[in-house]
Amino acid sequence: MVSDSMTASCLCGTVRISCGKQAGPAAYCHCADCRKCTGSAFNVSLAFESDSFQVQSGKIGTFMKNADSGHELTRHFCLNCGSPLYTSSPKHPDRVYVKAGIIDQPTRVRPAYQSWTQSKVEWATIDPLLPSYQKGRP
Ligand SMILES: [Zn+2]
Ligand SMILES: [Zn+2]
Repeated sequence: MVSDSMTASCLCGTVRISCGKQAGPAAYCHCADCRKCTGSAFNVSLAFESDSFQVQSGKIGTFMKNADSGHELTRHFCLNCGSPLYTSSPKHPDRVYVKAGIIDQPTRVRPAYQSWTQSKVEWATIDPLLPSYQKGRP
C-alpha cells in the first residue's frame, strides 16, 4: 500500500480505517438522506477502491435504505460513538464512499462538485463556482 494513503477514524477513536486508493474526487451532496445521516446541512464524501479499503479496528454497525436515486445504500457507523463513517452500494461494489469529516488528513480533501442541489437548504451555501448537478452527477 502506498505510504501516502489517507487514514480515517471516528469520534471515539476505536474505528481506524486505511482508506487505500482514492477512486474519485470529494463531492458535496445536498440530498435529504445525507442531511439526516450526517446531522448537518450536507454531506462531503470521497470514493475509494473497495479492494484497498481496510477497516483496521472498531465495531461497525450498518443501516440500509434506498436512496433518492432509487439505489440501495448501506450506511456504516461506529457502534460505540455513532459517528457516520462510510457508505457502500451493491450498484458500485468496487467503491466505498468515506465521509470527508472522518479523514485524518482533512487538508487533502478538495471537493470537486456538488450534487442534489434541488434538495439544498438555504443555509448551505458553498462555492458557487463549483460544478453543480440538480440530481446525482450523470
Ligand atoms: Zn467511535
Ligand atoms: Zn446524498
